[in-house]
Amino acid sequence: MIHFVGAGPGAADLITVRGKTLLETADQIIYAGSLVNPDLLQYAKAGCRILDSASMTLEEVIAAMKEYEAKGAMTVRLHTGDPSIYGAIREQMDELDKAGIAYACVPGVSSFCAAAAAVQKEYTLPGISQSVIITRMEGRTGVPEHQKIADYAAHGATMVIFLSAGLLEKLETELQRGGYAAATPAAIVYKASWPDEKVCYCTVDTLAQTAAANGISRTALILVGHFLDGAYERSRLYDPAFTHGYRQGKDAK
Ligand code: SAH
Repeated sequence: MIHFVGAGPGAADLITVRGKTLLETADQIIYAGSLVNPDLLQYAKAGCRILDSASMTLEEVIAAMKEYEAKGAMTVRLHTGDPSIYGAIREQMDELDKAGIAYACVPGVSSFCAAAAAVQKEYTLPGISQSVIITRMEGRTGVPEHQKIADYAAHGATMVIFLSAGLLEKLETELQRGGYAAATPAAIVYKASWPDEKVCYCTVDTLAQTAAANGISRTALILVGHFLDGAYERSRLYDPAFTHGYRQGKDAK
């Protein structure tokens, strides 16, 4: 059996209890070494084979899974954050389907959640934004038509931009082309939840210079939107006058 496990954003204690239990019982761990905190490997049992997928191809990863499956051993495929976000797990699942190998997924704390924790903000504020757009700049991996940064910026919703810390000048242009004002607040969150986490506040038109001044060119998320500074409306959920399924509002007859 193969278990795709979300490692969480970095801090070793941000993996789920289920994920940790699987790491402790795995016969083989294949982890994404470019981003997964190696501290998590301390949970591996003695004799567990540990492979870093950073230098492996899909074919090599699948071959290692098949090898252990053939001897009835259990593999954990450890992906950073949550495996469903830019995890390249689907292509592995399809190969496992072809080989008739069973697998299951354990979610993880995505870095976009750790970034919100780092800036101590809520992405979804009444009157500001009720949506979070998770996206990336087009780089060597293309982005389909109508899914470019400018298309999404046109909504004015909260944006979390992955995999783009090296493309910030272009990102500034695209965000503004889509409709964000130059002065829209933004934050660069580097290595959220790691010991060397860094948060830099800036605006849409100062992303590149802020990253350069702080030596950030990778492992960062770009947060954009007025959730960082705007005047929001109070929630209905905790409004004394509002009645809902679990509470009678004060003004209710
Ligand atoms: N599955 C992961 C994302 C993998 S893509 C998740 O759910 O978080 C890799 C990109 O994620 C990086 O280029 C960076 O943009 C972002 N990232 C991953 N971990 C991060 C962290 N701790 N802090 C900031 N950004 C991070």
